[in-house]
Amino acid sequence: MSATARFTARRVLLPGGEWLENGVVEARDGVITDVRPRGVFEGCENLQEWPDCAILPGFINAHCHLEYSAMHGLLQPAAFTDWLFQIVRLKSELSEETLRAALPGAIEQIIRSGTTTLVDNLSLDITQEALLQSGLDAYYLFELIESRPEDWPAQMAEEALARRMRGYPLNKAGFAPHAPYSIHVDLFRSAAERALEYRWPLSIHVSETLEENEFFLKGGGPFYELKRRFASLPSDWSVPGCSPLQHLDAHGLLDFKPLIVHANCPEPGDAVLLGRNGLSVVFCPGTHRYFNRAPWPMTAYRQAGVNVCIGTDSLASNESLDLTRELQLTHELHPDLSSEELLAMITESPAAALNFPDKGRIHSGCRADFSIWRWPYANLMEWIEDAQRQCLAVFAAGRSIACNALF
Ligand SMILES: [Zn+2]
Repeated sequence: MSATARFTARRVLLPGGEWLENGVVEARDGVITDVRPRGVFEGCENLQEWPDCAILPGFINAHCHLEYSAMHGLLQPAAFTDWLFQIVRLKSELSEETLRAALPGAIEQIIRSGTTTLVDNLSLDITQEALLQSGLDAYYLFELIESRPEDWPAQMAEEALARRMRGYPLNKAGFAPHAPYSIHVDLFRSAAERALEYRWPLSIHVSETLEENEFFLKGGGPFYELKRRFASLPSDWSVPGCSPLQHLDAHGLLDFKPLIVHANCPEPGDAVLLGRNGLSVVFCPGTHRYFNRAPWPMTAYRQAGVNVCIGTDSLASNESLDLTRELQLTHELHPDLSSEELLAMITESPAAALNFPDKGRIHSGCRADFSIWRWPYANLMEWIEDAQRQCLAVFAAGRSIACNALF
């Protein structure tokens, strides 16, 4: 976009939760160049009118597996290791055509929810084309699963990573070492050093279940059996005797500031460890409900100063990839949170967690990522609580990636 475009609405949400009444968002070359009252722009050209609407920042989905979209409804919420086994089997059974066919509908769900940035884990190479066409600002986090160091000498890891990433936009890459139980610390470090060098996102699932903690604390349980079944216990394996998070810390891996996904079951000391290291966690409320998990430790994390973000996870364990639905679920589960605190979990918090300084806010100099909503509401909380909330248009880098005519 080279021409200046101006979008005017009854309300524009500014950083910190303040509203600009009858405001204008001005954008040029994909960047917000001005945000001021409409009167300032009287007589200006290229003014798009959105009466009875509000302009909100583009949302950031901090955790997703788009490639699993075809698995919606095909898995049973069993014990987690059984569920992992089901997903591994489905990945090999479903055809590439079937997996790809589910992508357009899933991407539409994402965009219709006002999401403009998607941080997506991938283990298969099936999503790139659909995401490039979508206009979403997608980050491809290459999932790494391997725990035997004999399979990953340092040089081979570098070569394998390079081969894996061929053909992807390197300014949109990142790494997702799968989980402490499925990645060797040497491979994690190799990926983390690369991520740090290139300022790429880095994320890892940690303490999703108590059984994962049991495997680290005592060495037994379903995860031990799973790893024996897949013959993926490293030859130098010994029981760490601490939580998965403390295991990462003991190897210096928290210094790389990975985004911690789920963190459903912190052991004593974990919340403080997260806070002290300035780490961020991603809560996936839809998946949490699907597995009927114990209440998520929102209060403990917030008291420890942990930056909390929200993600959708995948359609294999969630009803939808609609981030506003996840926000509503979070509100229902944690009614003490204010509307501003909730919205930050899909805007400013993930922007901080992922080192996206020009995202998550409607402000001069930020990327022109925003969504336009029908607005019969008195306040932001009414919008969060209304399951019928209606997004009318979504702009990513100033370019319309969907408007009401398409919805
Ligand atoms: Zn995940």
